[in-house]
Amino acid sequence: MDYKIGVIKGDGIGPEIVTEAMKVLNKIGEVYGHQFYYQEILLGGASIDVYGVPLSDESLQLARESEAILMGSIGGNTTTSPWYQLPPNLRPEAGLLKLRKELGLFANMRPAYLYKELEGACPLKKEISEQGFDLVIMRELTGGLYFGERKTEEIDGVRYATDTLTYNEDEIRRIAIRGFDIARQRRKKLTSVDKANVLDSSRLWREIVTDVAKDYPDVTLEHMLVDNCAMQLVRDPAQFDVILTENMFGDILSDEASMITGSIGMLSSASLRDDPFGLYEPSHGSAPDIAGQNIANPIATILSAAMMLRYSFQLEKEAEAVEKAVQIVLEEGYRTIDIHSDNTKLVGTKEMGDFITKRIL
Ligand code: NAD
Repeated sequence: MDYKIGVIKGDGIGPEIVTEAMKVLNKIGEVYGHQFYYQEILLGGASIDVYGVPLSDESLQLARESEAILMGSIGGNTTTSPWYQLPPNLRPEAGLLKLRKELGLFANMRPAYLYKELEGACPLKKEISEQGFDLVIMRELTGGLYFGERKTEEIDGVRYATDTLTYNEDEIRRIAIRGFDIARQRRKKLTSVDKANVLDSSRLWREIVTDVAKDYPDVTLEHMLVDNCAMQLVRDPAQFDVILTENMFGDILSDEASMITGSIGMLSSASLRDDPFGLYEPSHGSAPDIAGQNIANPIATILSAAMMLRYSFQLEKEAEAVEKAVQIVLEEGYRTIDIHSDNTKLVGTKEMGDFITKRIL
């Protein structure tokens, strides 16, 4: 089969890690008889340098014409880069927010998985880390506080800042359906996280999720308050399968979940909607501090490409082949610097990509 992939290399380590993921995809193409066509798309700082805006109409059009998008990461050093002297709507991140919104990518999926080989990097107590964990956070991505009305005003000489958290029932229903669908493909447990003891938006969230659950009798639903969830993630992460939550809670909990794996360079993510299209990127940023040194870990991006094969192209066997190759290379002891420890073999970005490519059979 032929597949048309939009490729956003982005800024910082983006071009290095995306190059490795493309190497892996090309090998998958060779072994399984597929042809991947790549269309490069500028976003973030790379786009500002060329067009003066972080997302041009032309780039948006190319993104719309793709079957899926593979992305590195965008942005620079937020203190020193000239991109951050620009007004907020012209900075790199504004381009990504606009792209997600324009493409209607309302569901962000971030797996957090503890590899046996990387157990030592997990900051949790040994008796917790040796249980392992394998969970997914499904975060609503285009509503809530980040997109609600906001204003700062002065009343009687005192400044007030207001952000609004709004969800309508359709927005909640569509992400809940996505979450239950994913839970059904996994261990069939969904934890819906809210703050229903305080927030109206959370009470509606809970009501709609409970309603959607009726169509998924094979999936066990539990509700959990967000403060409790933050605690449970470090106390007993193995209890979770799919965590479903709104935009801001998801932003915070997914960073916490990535932290307990001990290796941000390993974590993939997908932004999805209700058709097969998706945008796939590592959970980490553009790491400008290590850009261009061939030391960045490309595995998060390679695993994001595996998610693309699974969720956009329905190529399950091929996705598993990529995940297996990563597993084998870790078992063989190869590590980039972020996950390196005594008795393992230190390799660079390119070498890691090469080893994983070779292990695809
Ligand atoms: P970051 O994730 O880029 O880096 C945090 C730390 O982790 C750094 O020390 C970095 O060297 C390290 N790191 C990250 N990825 C790594 C990898 N693959 N291999 C090895 N080490 C890795 O976060 P930050 O420094 O807060 O942000 C840098 C820039 O990235 C900012 O401009 C920020 O806005 C942007 N950012 C972009 C996205 C995105 O494109 N979706 C997400 C987060 C941050």
